[in-house]
Amino acid sequence: MLAIEARCLGYRIAVQDPDPAGPAGQLADVRIEGAWDDIAAAKVLADHSDVITIDTEHVPAHLLEQLEGLKPVRPSSHVLRVVQDRLEQRRFLASHGLPQVRHSSLARAEDLRIAAEAVGFPAVLKRRRGGYDGRGQLRVEGQSALAGAWKALGEAPAVLESFVEFEKEVSVLLARDLGGHIRFYPVAENVHRRSILRTTSVPAGIPPELASEAEELGTRIASGLEHVGMMAIELFVTREGRLLVNEIAPRMHNSGHFSFGACGTSQFEQHVRAICGLPLGDPSLLRPAVMLNLLGDLWREGTPAWDAVFAHPNAHLHLYGKRVASPGRKMGHVLVLGEGVDQARAAVEAIAADLERQRAPERAG
Ligand code: AMP
Repeated sequence: MLAIEARCLGYRIAVQDPDPAGPAGQLADVRIEGAWDDIAAAKVLADHSDVITIDTEHVPAHLLEQLEGLKPVRPSSHVLRVVQDRLEQRRFLASHGLPQVRHSSLARAEDLRIAAEAVGFPAVLKRRRGGYDGRGQLRVEGQSALAGAWKALGEAPAVLESFVEFEKEVSVLLARDLGGHIRFYPVAENVHRRSILRTTSVPAGIPPELASEAEELGTRIASGLEHVGMMAIELFVTREGRLLVNEIAPRMHNSGHFSFGACGTSQFEQHVRAICGLPLGDPSLLRPAVMLNLLGDLWREGTPAWDAVFAHPNAHLHLYGKRVASPGRKMGHVLVLGEGVDQARAAVEAIAADLERQRAPERAG
């Protein structure tokens, strides 16, 4: 989606990807096959580029740091260094006085007891590095299960977080340009299933004061990191109506995919504008929208039939061009625009039910 928007603005694109058939490469002028930590490949990328950006925060910060000597890198290696490590992220939030989940760090088996006392149960144990979409994290119900969970995560450095019985999850999406100006997308409401984003609805069903508070948190985080580009901040809304920061993603985010079709400027165009030194576009929502992620599980019986999507005049299918569908892998999404969020959500659920039915066909006889 970033490549599509960059092309529309007239830019040429070079892509480094470990997968030579990856989605962005299919639209690129120059494809460089290389793992995220392949510095030789990244230097070739730098040779071809005027500005370098990322589409995943798993690119090592030290690699970006080396590229910074060659070409502008946005977001910077500093931002990546903070967000790649859950503990560093939590320390950054604490040092800026930002509200977050109660947590404790774990480096050795001896830390288990202290962490459990500090955090309580139920809790979530998360590896400090490398986890996403629920990978690298486990819910822990009590002290007796903690040692087993720590083992299951490879005894890697981790953070134990208190499990939040949240009212809902929302994300604040923003772009910050080279001059430090910030523009916000409408706060989005997210529903996860098995720790993977399932739907995003906009506008979120939260009071305007809470949306302003989310924006205020976003400003403090993006400015505190001197971030440039798109950023998403995932928040829990507690039952008491408070916001807690769960996670910072310094990039275009899955919960902002609705913007591609529902907003004046998509998060992808906005990111290109920010990193290329252009003024930011208007991110206003044109119509209420609901996005449904399409996971690889739906491909179990082959590529799904999309009739239910196409039958709806305001439903839009977006497939990413990934060759292999595996369970939990995000293969694409459906965006439904509506008169209101409830109407769009009803249409999305009807489409989801149809796709699910195909996956589990009733075998006659
Ligand atoms: P994360 O990878 O940290 O974004 O976690 C993925 C999802 O797991 C979140 O969006 C929540 O739905 C859930 N989750 C993660 N951490 C917690 C927590 N401390 N309390 C409750 N739910 C959580």
